[in-house]
Amino acid sequence: MNEHAKILSYIDSHRAEAIEFLQHMVAFDSSTIHHGLDGQELAIQEWLAGVLAGWGLETRLFEPDNAKMKVFPDFSPGHSYRNRPNLVATLKGAGNGRSLILNGHVDTMPAGDRARWTHDPWAGEIADGDMFGLGVCDMKAGVAAMILATRFLCEAGFPPQGDVLIQSVVDEEGGGNGTLGCVVEGYRADAAIVTEPTRLHVQPASRGVLLLEVAVEGRATHACLKWGGVNAIEKGVKIIQGMIELERLWLATRRNPLFPPPTITIGQITGGLAGSQVPGECVLKFDVKYLPVEMDRDGRDKPNNADMVKQEISDWIRTLCAGDPWLADHPPALSWYQHCIPHYLDPRHPLVGLMRGATEAVREWSMVSGFPAGCDARHLQNRAGVPAIIFGPGDLQYAHSIDERVSVQEYLDAIKILALAIHDWTSATRNGD
Ligand SMILES: [Zn+2]
Repeated sequence: MNEHAKILSYIDSHRAEAIEFLQHMVAFDSSTIHHGLDGQELAIQEWLAGVLAGWGLETRLFEPDNAKMKVFPDFSPGHSYRNRPNLVATLKGAGNGRSLILNGHVDTMPAGDRARWTHDPWAGEIADGDMFGLGVCDMKAGVAAMILATRFLCEAGFPPQGDVLIQSVVDEEGGGNGTLGCVVEGYRADAAIVTEPTRLHVQPASRGVLLLEVAVEGRATHACLKWGGVNAIEKGVKIIQGMIELERLWLATRRNPLFPPPTITIGQITGGLAGSQVPGECVLKFDVKYLPVEMDRDGRDKPNNADMVKQEISDWIRTLCAGDPWLADHPPALSWYQHCIPHYLDPRHPLVGLMRGATEAVREWSMVSGFPAGCDARHLQNRAGVPAIIFGPGDLQYAHSIDERVSVQEYLDAIKILALAIHDWTSATRNGD
């Protein structure tokens, strides 16, 4: 039996242990409070630290340091990290192999309306091949898979030749400060895998996200004298229609083979005081998803970044307002209130090919695509300079949802694929031979 076959058969014989490990992680309520301003990740992090230390890994629990992180534009301010430690567990390489960071978050969204769950959110029940539980898809299955892949590899007799750093982070759902906290502590490696749910697609890139608020001014008056007022909601509708037109233009002209096209989504409208009044103000909130790299018709990379996207949208709204006498005199105020920077690793990077090979050894197919949302991989790649991909079990459509679930088979396959990838990546020496 060759090395890969030995590793895979060892993991096959530890299926029950893998399921139990994930159920144990699901049993902790590690949900965030107020979108990450606070959280309750301590218990699960202490449990994981104990398990990993018991296996002989060097473990460190530390709270992300706001003072060190605040220099970064994608830092989320105002979050408390008391009793919310990151965990970094280091397995020293047995030789001079390439090092690897495995990164995942243990915080989850809140459970929402418990009455709507058909399974206990913290029991890890299995039905029809899926495990159910809060955070099981996003992303406790990914964290469990990366930890067990490392563990089973050692137990099967193939300890990694390079350092493996397991980063179990807090506060991803609140903006990603947990991983940023690891970056500012100086953790680096030759590559990184973030095990967010990708349905086992290999994803070397993630889209950027901009949130935009547009405050539209009108002139309030009683509806019975409406000719004396200016309806801010009606003016807001013009802006929404203009944004729909811009999105349609993007859908037709902006491309990157890894991704769906960039999008603009109206997410919230507020305005007006009563049905009997012409509203004097209307506030619109838009979500803008943009591509890290765009391709021209010939498939050549075209530069793209947040400043260019912001400029394009501002110009578009200004042109639209120029055609309306009121809006021309009272231009709406734009404020870009949140930004998740995209990340892009050239799909020709050796880790991408290696992950495809490992996936094909287990699943007989592989797929390279892009992560449609923002992701912590951006901090590892953009801030720490560590080439990062996203790869993990679970389907994003079940994340942040009632009856969140993950396919048990996909979870077990993720352990196998990650074990082969860790083995192959760290078996090559740092000089590339
Ligand atoms: Zn996630």
